[in-house]
Order: sequence, then structure tokens, then C-alpha cells
Amino acid sequence: MDEFDLTGRTAVVTGGSRGIGRAIAHGLAEAGADVAPLSRSREDVATVAAEVEERGRDSTVATCDVTEADDVREAFDAVRDALGPIDVVVNNAGVNPDGALGRPEDVSDDDFGFVEDVNLGGAFTCARVAAEDLHERGGSVVNVASVGGLVGLPRQHPYVASKHGLVGLTKSMALDWAPDVRVNCVAPGYVVTDLTEDLAENETLAASIRERTPLDRFAEPEEIAGPVVFLASDAASYVTGTTLVADGGWTAR
Ligand code: NDP
Repeated sequence: MDEFDLTGRTAVVTGGSRGIGRAIAHGLAEAGADVAPLSRSREDVATVAAEVEERGRDSTVATCDVTEADDVREAFDAVRDALGPIDVVVNNAGVNPDGALGRPEDVSDDDFGFVEDVNLGGAFTCARVAAEDLHERGGSVVNVASVGGLVGLPRQHPYVASKHGLVGLTKSMALDWAPDVRVNCVAPGYVVTDLTEDLAENETLAASIRERTPLDRFAEPEEIAGPVVFLASDAASYVTGTTLVADGGWTAR
């Protein structure tokens, strides 16, 4: 189907240096887009940019911290200079540090604020910085939320609050930016990445998650790329303000 073809589009993927973001950068490039992976690490971004180019698409090396608006503006300008106006923003950068895990009384204000700033504030900033391009070009925003944006998870309060916020932000931005720009979310379940390394190493916990997951396994990062490519493409031309859950059935119970 031609509707999945992203040839001629420019996509930015925050947190594109590793894990799910890296797989999304690969997937968008394979669908035909030129792709700028962004993160704070120039070396890791350069690696993924080269992987995009190996897939026959253009890329560029730009870095930013998504919590710093000026930094984000500079990086998006650099992407525009290298690849042209931005058609797709994938807000994937996310954190869930040890200090933000625990009962509510165990989490410091700083840890709470840090998680909200990256996971929620970063997405708002990146979408807004690209707003003019997105409106002119009929673009699309895809926010990477989590099943933690749909249900509560014990001992992950800042993360869950940020991801519920991202689902809400998606809906309200979809209202304000329609009909020009579509805004959607993907909500992954458990995916094997650096973020879930500790969890995967805890055999009891990993087994209990698998047991609750009808597909009986964690996802590979590549399995989140397909839903993102779909939402970014014209195949989803009548889809906005929604959340596509990719969790192996974890929330179906
Ligand atoms: P990783 O820890 O593997 O990657 C996180 C990415 O975010 C890295 O590229 C990192 O790059 C970037 N990043 C972190 N902080 C910032 C910042 N302040 N500014 C810019 N970039 C930043 O995580 P995953 O790939 O697992 O997760 C990606 C997204 O998917 C996150 O939003 C996460 O919440 C979500 N998710 C993950 C699940 C999982 O099971 N893994 C499940 C559900 C959702 P750098 O450090 O170089 O800046």
C-alpha cells in the first residue's frame, strides 16, 4: 500500500540513539523517510544516523536535551538545514530513574520533576518547536507513552503520571492542531531495552510480567516501530487523538 510510504518526508525521533527510538529511526527510514535521531549523545546519534544512511535515506547528526527549549530549537533548526522542513515528530525520549521508583513518600521532588520534565515537558517542547513546519506540511506527531499511561503501576508514580499526562496531551493537541496535524500515541508494554534491563534480570518479576502477557514475552524494540510508522503515515490519515497499544495483550486482562 502506497499509504505507508514516507518517501520525501523528514522525521525527527527524540531518544533516537538507542532502544525503541533507534528501532523507530530504522523503521521510518525503511518506510522511505529521511530521519534525524536526536539524543544527548553525539556519538550514539552518529551511529544511528549512519544506520539510517545504510538504508538509503538521508540523516544528520544533531543533539539536544529535550528539557532545554533553546537546545531543542537549535537541534530542530540544524535538522531543517540538513534535511528540509519537518513532517513527523516522534517524541520517544524517556526516563524512569531509580530515584523515581518506590512508594510516593520515597520519591524526592527533584526526581519527580525530572521525570515529568523529560517524558512530558520534552514532548510538549519538541512538538511546539516543529509546529510551523507540521502545520504547513500536514504533518504528524507520534508520542511514545506506555501501558503506564493507561493503568496505574505500583512504585512508578512519576513515570505513570508523566505517561498519563502524555496520553492527555496527545488528545488535547490533536483537538487544537486538527485538521492540519495529526497527534497520536503508541503505548508499548514491556520492551527489552536499557530501560528495562534491571527488570528483565529479576527473574521472578520478569516471569510474572510474561505470565500476565498473553503473547508470553517482552517485545523487541522493532515491534514498536511498526505502530509508529503506521501512525506517522497516510495509512492513518483518519486517526488522531488516539493511543495504539502494543503490549502483547498485557492490558487486555
Ligand atoms: P532507553 O533508555 O533505551 O532510551 C532512552 C532514550 O531517550 C535514549 O536515546 C536517551 O538518549 C534519550 N533521552 C533520555 N533523556 C533524554 C533527554 N533529557 N534529552 C534527550 N534525549 C534523552 O529507553 P527505551 O528505548 O526503553 O524507551 C524509549 C521510550 O519508550 C521511553 O519514552 C519509554 O518511557 C518508552 N517505553 C519503554 C518501554 C520499555 O519496556 N522499554 C515500555 C513502554 C514505554 P541519551 O541518554 O543519549 O540522551
